[in-house]
Amino acid sequence: MASTVTCHCTARWTGVGPCHCPTCHVTWATPELFDQHRWHVRGQDGCWPPQELTDHGRPLVCQDGVWGVLEVEKRRRVGRRVRA
Ligand SMILES: [Zn+2]
Ligand SMILES: [Zn+2]
Repeated sequence: MASTVTCHCTARWTGVGPCHCPTCHVTWATPELFDQHRWHVRGQDGCWPPQELTDHGRPLVCQDGVWGVLEVEKRRRVGRRVRA
């Protein structure tokens, strides 16, 4: 059982937490961020680049190829906001 997962784009990440997007090939730290970066409008869908996203106003950073908020920021969770 390999704990390192790979994609055909050669992205690599470890563990079950990170979610790799098969569309834009960005690896997200949490399923919530993954959901947030996807947009769906009238039958079309796509991806926001990580530079365009924030987690409740906190900028995302790339750590070891995985986009998310810094550890210290993760603890203060506030209610989810739906991106308009
Ligand atoms: Zn994506
Ligand atoms: Zn990929």
